[in-house]
Formats: sequence, C-alpha cells, structure tokens
Amino acid sequence: MNSTIISVGNELLMGKTLNTNLTYIAKELRMMGIGVAKAYTIQDHATAIRAALKHADDPIVILTGGLGPTPDDMTKEVVCEYLGLTLSLHEPSLHAISTMFAKYGKVMPESNRKQAYFPLEAEILDNPLGTAPGMLVKHQNQTFILLPGPPNEMRPMLDLVKPLLLNQRDVEIEQEGFLVAGIGESEMQDKLEGFEAQHPLVRIAPYAGVGEIQYIFTSTNKDALHKALEAFKAKFNRYIMGPYTETFEEILVRELRLRGETLSAVESCTTGLFSGRLGNVAGVSEVFKESYVLYDNDIKIKTLDLHPSTLASFGVVSHEAVRAMAESLAQKTQADLTLAISGIAGPGGGSPEKPVGTVLFGVHYEGQTHSVERFFPGDRQTIRHRAVAYAFYLLICQVKRHGC
Ligand code: ATP
Ligand code: MG
Repeated sequence: MNSTIISVGNELLMGKTLNTNLTYIAKELRMMGIGVAKAYTIQDHATAIRAALKHADDPIVILTGGLGPTPDDMTKEVVCEYLGLTLSLHEPSLHAISTMFAKYGKVMPESNRKQAYFPLEAEILDNPLGTAPGMLVKHQNQTFILLPGPPNEMRPMLDLVKPLLLNQRDVEIEQEGFLVAGIGESEMQDKLEGFEAQHPLVRIAPYAGVGEIQYIFTSTNKDALHKALEAFKAKFNRYIMGPYTETFEEILVRELRLRGETLSAVESCTTGLFSGRLGNVAGVSEVFKESYVLYDNDIKIKTLDLHPSTLASFGVVSHEAVRAMAESLAQKTQADLTLAISGIAGPGGGSPEKPVGTVLFGVHYEGQTHSVERFFPGDRQTIRHRAVAYAFYLLICQVKRHGC
C-alpha cells in the first residue's frame, strides 16, 4: 500500500526549516510496510494545497502543518472544501484548547476557536502538546490524515494513527530486521551473494547511514521471514548490534542496563557528540555516570591524572594515550565501561603518519584495556560523526562480547 505526504508551510520553502516531518513520517510508514509514492512540500496557500491534493491519489494521504490559529493556517479548511465536508464546532476540542491556555494562566484568544472546527465525519486526533488537534477522515477509497507542523506535536499524534493504518493494509506484511555495524555496505553485499536467492519470499533492503546499515526484511510469509532472519543472524552475528528499530545509543543503554553496568567517557575530537547521543535515551542516567570533553593536553593530564610523558612521547592521538585515558577514567569514575576518543578531525593538524581522519579509541572493560585506530574519510563533521558511530559499535561489541 502506498501513501502521499504533503508538507505545508512557507518556512519549509524559505530555506529556514528542514522538512524533518517528511523523513520521520516516511521512515515510520516504511517500518509499517507502507510506501511513500509521492511527497509535496508546499506553501500555506489554498491553490498549492488544492493542487497537491489533486495529485494525491494514494490510499493514504498525510498532511502536516497549517493547523494553527492564524488566517494563513488553512490546511484543514482547504482539505474539507476539497472533499466537500462541512466544518462545525467540536466542543471537546474547544474545551481541550481553552484548558491548555488556562494551564498557563491565559484566556484562549478568539482566533484559536477555528482550531476546534471539524467535519462530523472526521475522527479527531488529540494534541496533548499543542493547541492544534489533528484529524483523520475517510473519503471514498482514501484516508486523509492532518497533523500539526511542529515535530514534537506531530510525532506522538502519528503514533495515534499507526494502529488504524496497520489495519488498512491490504496484505499483512511482516517486517523485521537488524542494525548492522563494523562492516561496509559493499563488503556486506559481497557476503550476501546468493542469500536472497535462498530466501525468495523475502525482500531484503539495506539502508546505509553514518557508520551503520539497517537491513530490513519484509515478507508476506511469516515462516519465510523467520528463516531468513535466523540465517542472517547465524551468518552475521558479529556485526549485528540489535533490531533495526533501535539506535546505537538505545542498544548500548539497554545492554548496560541488563547487566547493571555503568559507563563514562572522555571525548576530544568528538567534543561531546557521543555523550549527546546517549542523552537521547530516556533513563540513561541509570547507566551513564559522567563524561568529559577534554581538548587541551594540559587539562587532559590534570583532569585524568595522566603521566605527562605518555602524551609527550606518543602524542595525544595514539594507542598509548587513549588507553591511559580510558584506564584513568575507570579509576576516577569507577564506571564498569569507559571510552576515550582522540583524533584528528581536520581540516588542519594531519601528518603523513597520522592523516586527518585518524581517530583512536580506548576502551576499558572487565579489567582489560583495548585500543583501536581507525581512519575515516570525509570532512570534519563526517569524521566526527563516523567516529561516534564507531565508538558505539566498539562498546556494543564489548558488552555483547562480539569480539570485534
Ligand atoms: P502555527 O502556524 O500556529 O505555528 P501550525 O500547526 O500551522 O501552527 P506550522 O506553521 O505548520 O504549524 O509549523 C509550526 C512550526 O513547526 C514551524 O515554524 C516549523 O519550524 C515547524 N515545522 C512545520 N512543518 C515542519 C516540517 N515539515 N518539518 C519540520 N518542522 C516543521
Ligand atoms: Mg502555520
């Protein structure tokens, strides 16, 4: 089954706001086995909305944005006019909106009333984080879903409609898969030679990200899917971090939680990007002790009680330095797992022995210290993000004892 996504909002066409709703919704739909056949990004303008609706001939049409209280917010009004539906006041929505204002000690402005008007045919989607409720309406063979533009409001509301969308799929599509790391996409492709032929009822699609690949298996046959997943697991276990629906940080936090273990980190060239990703996971405080961003060498020595000669003799981007940092951090924080990252993100600072893109990782776990040197091609940001992805890979391998 296919869908059309229509993103409404002037700000999306002014180079001001990145259309993250599109990528988010497309990914969520894909995970449900629903394809996105077309996507339109359009202005808050009646003719633009009508034109997009004319092309939206898929069974599912999702619109975001333009549900606000101002006259330029007109998505709902134009969609209803297009479908021949009449808007009338929906009292529970009006109550919800005025309650939201009252919560902040304010009286609801008159302009917000229009957000409580819906056609009788629609199912109203509550918006606990904003004043714009959404709606779902079935019309002939299509389902139209209207969601607000702000991503933090849109996301939980999309969750509300997921069960309804799943019910509508004509064939039951099973979907599962893995998050794979520590191997490149082309190398994987070579190793997968013949695998698809052995599992003809299963579609296997790789989606490569930064330092990771999602392998998504879809099939209408549950048994065939299960067999393919098991075969993949047996062949590629050492590269499998977890299910494809999880991020590196979610997997690492879950694994540490399972073991009742804690983590701390010291970052140099990644300046907190690793720790920042850990912060994406709710409840991370159970396992994440602390982290340091230490750039200056003297500060590194002082904070981690390092032997000055280690950095002087080997340099800060060296096996010796990251090992010393990881060990020292373990002493200092008493964390079960510690990580040290030090590298040359560029564009300057490289040398023939240690070119830009060289990153060293030190890991201390269960009384042992390991260090790994990697080279990541790309610009400064790419190098830093790839280094973070690799750090997650290393740590997940450690705790899962994958031996990478
Ligand atoms: P209002 O106009 O009153 O803020 P609204 O429901 O019309 O409410 P939009 O105007 O569409 O919402 O969006 C409000 C904000 O949400 C925008 O400023 C923009 O930053 C963000 N936003 C809107 N659409 C998207 C999108 N597709 N992707 C990411 N952010 C978006
Ligand atoms: Mg708007």
